[in-house]
Amino acid sequence: MSFVDKTLTCRDCNAEFVFTIGEQEFYVEKGFTNEPSRCPDCRRANKARRNADGGNFGGGGGGFGGQRQDRPMYDAICSECGKDTRVPFQPKPDRPVYCNDCFQANRPPRQYDRF
Ligand SMILES: [Zn+2]
Ligand SMILES: [Zn+2]
Repeated sequence: MSFVDKTLTCRDCNAEFVFTIGEQEFYVEKGFTNEPSRCPDCRRANKARRNADGGNFGGGGGGFGGQRQDRPMYDAICSECGKDTRVPFQPKPDRPVYCNDCFQANRPPRQYDRF
């Protein structure tokens, strides 16, 4: 079996493109019987479009917006200032619980330093 470069016409943009020997061999290897009907540019564009559609697929419903708020919150008393507060974890008697203000105040001051 011998191959020659074939010139084909893209059905999307009507540009002529070469179906090279290497590609023909590749097609035969993969068992494809059809010649490519689109030029490499259109093939790439098509694939990119498909990928983009696939990426958006799960986000279309818009039903997940409130999920973050479903986290249970626990009532607690701030160990620092005694204020009522709510924390996203079960408060433990042996561990101090801080309200937002005190939590900020107790944060190590150099936490966000960068060299
Ligand atoms: Zn094309
Ligand atoms: Zn506090």
